[in-house]
Amino acid sequence: MKVISLNCNHCGAPLDVPAKARFATCGFCQAKLAVEHVGNSYSTSVLDELKETTEKIARDVAEMKSSSEIKELDERWQRERLSHMVTGKHGQQSLPTKTGAVAGGIMIAAFGLFWTIMAAGITSAGARVGAPGVVRIFPLFGVLFIGFGIFIAFRIFSRADAYERANKKYLDQRRELAREQTRTD
Ligand SMILES: [Zn+2]
Repeated sequence: MKVISLNCNHCGAPLDVPAKARFATCGFCQAKLAVEHVGNSYSTSVLDELKETTEKIARDVAEMKSSSEIKELDERWQRERLSHMVTGKHGQQSLPTKTGAVAGGIMIAAFGLFWTIMAAGITSAGARVGAPGVVRIFPLFGVLFIGFGIFIAFRIFSRADAYERANKKYLDQRRELAREQTRTD
């Protein structure tokens, strides 16, 4: 069996190990050594250091994994956000808010109320001068608008609520991943 002569990486003592050995124990200091074979040269390293290196690699991998998970989560959220968008009256896309829902509903309902009052005044004046009965339905359009305003307010409000909950879930998940990442540092 071919034997190679090395030095202990811990105490420097000479050490003979079988050429194929991957591990050795120093006869002087009892250090557990890894035998490293690079090209034609051999050397030893203390196993504790090797262990530290392995652990460090494991930490780096865990950190890379959690930062790629964060990146993935962010990308998924960017796409999900789009599905929460509502289309405004000029065709613009925006994220729904609860205050926006209420304000929008009030605006539509206020317009309906204004219409109802105006139309009621005009049709009752018309009725006095003998206008056809069909004119009397005009105030009803205003009432429809009030109903529509309330409907829109509720609809946008519930979408805003769904968006808020999804956003909170995303932030919680992201915070959790970030915490895992700092734990491995
Ligand atoms: Zn030694």
